[in-house]
Amino acid sequence: MRKILIVGAGQSGLQLALGLQTKGYEVTVMSNRTADEIRGGRVMSTQCMFHTALQHERDLEINFWENQAPRIQGLGVSVAAPDSSRAIDWLGRLDGHAQSVDQRVKMAGWMETFAQRGGQLVIHGAAVSDLDFFARTYDLVLVSAGKGELVSMFARDAERSPYDTPQRALAVSYVTGLGPRPEHPDTEAVRCNLVPGVGELFVMPSLTTSGRCDILFWEGVPGGPLDVFQEIRDPAEHLATTLALMEKYTPWEYARATKVELTDAGGTLAGRYAPTVRKPVGRLPGGGAVLGVADVVVANDPITGQGSNSASKCAASYLASIVEHGDRPFDEEWMQAAFDRYWQTAQHVTKWTNAMLAPPPEHVLQLIGAGGELPPVRDRFANGFNNPTDFEDWFYDPEKAAAYLASVTPA
Ligand SMILES: Cc1cc2nc3c(=O)[nH]c(=O)nc-3n(C[C@H](O)[C@H](O)[C@H](O)COP(=O)(O)OP(=O)(O)OC[C@H]3O[C@@H](n4cnc5c(N)ncnc54)[C@H](O)[C@@H]3O)c2cc1C
Repeated sequence: MRKILIVGAGQSGLQLALGLQTKGYEVTVMSNRTADEIRGGRVMSTQCMFHTALQHERDLEINFWENQAPRIQGLGVSVAAPDSSRAIDWLGRLDGHAQSVDQRVKMAGWMETFAQRGGQLVIHGAAVSDLDFFARTYDLVLVSAGKGELVSMFARDAERSPYDTPQRALAVSYVTGLGPRPEHPDTEAVRCNLVPGVGELFVMPSLTTSGRCDILFWEGVPGGPLDVFQEIRDPAEHLATTLALMEKYTPWEYARATKVELTDAGGTLAGRYAPTVRKPVGRLPGGGAVLGVADVVVANDPITGQGSNSASKCAASYLASIVEHGDRPFDEEWMQAAFDRYWQTAQHVTKWTNAMLAPPPEHVLQLIGAGGELPPVRDRFANGFNNPTDFEDWFYDPEKAAAYLASVTPA
């Protein structure tokens, strides 16, 4: 039986571990926290996942919270005008529903399932020196430790990483008591509110440790008026600041948030990171090689809500590459090929996400504006969150955008 070590118990590591387990591999997962520590800790993400990524979980029959989590049927875009009214406001319909399950719930649950199914769960924050040893005792070592210190083993790919500093300051609050959007009270939706030059507010329903909640997520341009969360330690002050900024910049969202309360003491998060693509093969001091997974190798800004989706897609792609490789050695050539296969889809996520971080060019403003009049345009934009590859055909190039708009504009 082939022995595989997975370092990091997040979306990608646990999904891959559970998948390998069902295929008969002997899997060890190393986590720097226990399931209870994760469950009782701080929120980590907004983790909204779209159809393709959710389907990978269904395929492995690990979609344990699908019937409890709100079914997100739409994705809406609002653009603030200079007077804080809405210049644009529409709702696109998703072909397949999206869902957000608090990673504290999902990762703790998956860790317990993995252990119950006979998997080896080691609670230990791995250091590079540990991996040096393990690379000799396992057939394959995968590093799925997110954006933490272990990324230092993987060289930054400058050609694929146009930004070398964080492009947004992030501030998340998990709340109860949010009212429905009056424009579509019966449709659960992710609402993307764009405040030009300032940042973005995302609002979405989720399932947290205590049941249904909503998430308020500010993405602020660094140094701008939303970049004020870094020094805040008190969760109540974090929420009050979130709401004050909503009242000022997105009053239509504030109007339904006047009665909200934090879900729990761990329900806030602030931070920032530079979007970075890395070389997939990590080299160990002793000469061994390890393969990077998901955020370790491709970390995009959460402005497009893609990281958990990509983690799911990476885990599914690596699972197929591992199984197809049979009993042959997992050498560096294989590692590079496994990553290249994943990059076929990941490159489109990176391209789109990096584009959305920059001020939108004229033709993109036209496309987003056209969503107000043309249902096919808004639906296509919404479904691009599930399949960002589609943006290649209509979004980046002004000529393709014009041709597309002409094709849907009523004669
Ligand atoms: C504010 C915010 C909002 C987001 N919103 C969305 C969204 O709506 N949709 C979406 O798809 N994505 C979103 N993302 C991105 C998404 O959360 C991540 O991309 C995704 O969780 C990455 O999964 P992963 O498996 O690569 O790593 P992670 O989920 O980061 O998991 C890594 C795990 O490894 C552990 N670990 C770290 N170092 C070690 C070590 N040395 N030894 C052992 N264990 C270790 C960590 O504790 C963690 O449990 C968001 C991110 C942020 C920050």
